[in-house]
Amino acid sequence: LSKNEGRNRSSRFTDRLRDLARERVHTEPALRQGIERGELVLFYQPIRDVAEGHVKGVEALVRWNRPGHGMVPPDVFIPLAEDTGIIGQLGEWVMTEAIRQLRRWRDGGLVGSDFHMAVNVSPLQLVTPSLVGVIRRLLAGHGLKPADLTIEITESTMMSDLASISNALRALADYGVALSIDDFGTRYSSLANLRHLPAHQLKIDKSFVAGLGKNRADSTLVETVIGLARGLGMSCVAEGVETAGQMDLLRALGCDLAQGYHLGRPQTGPELTTAWAQPLAPAQVAGN
Ligand code: C2E
Ligand code: MG
Ligand code: MG
Ligand code: MG
Repeated sequence: LSKNEGRNRSSRFTDRLRDLARERVHTEPALRQGIERGELVLFYQPIRDVAEGHVKGVEALVRWNRPGHGMVPPDVFIPLAEDTGIIGQLGEWVMTEAIRQLRRWRDGGLVGSDFHMAVNVSPLQLVTPSLVGVIRRLLAGHGLKPADLTIEITESTMMSDLASISNALRALADYGVALSIDDFGTRYSSLANLRHLPAHQLKIDKSFVAGLGKNRADSTLVETVIGLARGLGMSCVAEGVETAGQMDLLRALGCDLAQGYHLGRPQTGPELTTAWAQPLAPAQVAGN
């Protein structure tokens, strides 16, 4: 690498950083406004039991329908929301909307009383003391039980401030909300941490599920997490299930629940309502 090339590269790098910073400066107020203007949308992906294929619940997944940008995926704006403190407002919107949707499906007789709503919660929301209060108020206000809600947290969450996070999690668990460890095995988790968390469920990351049956190491990891969940008295969910073959293997391994494009893509509330209300498909209420 010549001196000149090095300089060019580093100035290109600096340009890129400057572009990114500029983009963030514009995106932050747009996101704040977008939340107020109702530009956030929740999609819901079915979570099925592996043995029977019945829908046991859904996971709420947020998108930003940003004018001129189409549906922006969460990986693009959640980190920005976390860095700028918008996550509190965003997370409260998501929680409110998801709980309202569950109420609507219950009222319409489209889901049973054991149907769960799973909501992703960011690390920063967990250290906010009001989260438990917000959840209590929302559930009570909609005539729902704590057990109707599952909170999904990522492992990175637990590493940043384990003490205050595990306090918040314990308060939620004591209240009766189920806790699921999302993307299990991908980040800085340790089994020791897991022992101190009041978790009810492990979610096997889709990167491991992708190699199931094809790659020896991934298959072993999936099998091990299923065994770990069982040993600790937790349930397990495989995410990112894209083929019937993966589903067969998960069934053979005794995995409880599964989620993925093969079992149902994320859809809006109204889309799922329509699908579940089809008169000729009563099985869809429980089984599709
Ligand atoms: P996650 O919670 O692990 O969600 C699973 C992601 O995998 C979702 O991406 C989902 O659309 C995608 N997925 C589902 N089935 C399949 C499949 O069969 N194959 C593949 N390749 N992918 C599949 P999405 O919706 O883009 O969400 C990405 C991440 O953003 C989520 O990962 C979650 O960590 C975060 N997120 C989503 N909604 C929220 C939210 O409301 N609050 C917070 N804090 N984070 C959220
Ligand atoms: Mg999740
Ligand atoms: Mg996940
Ligand atoms: Mg993920």
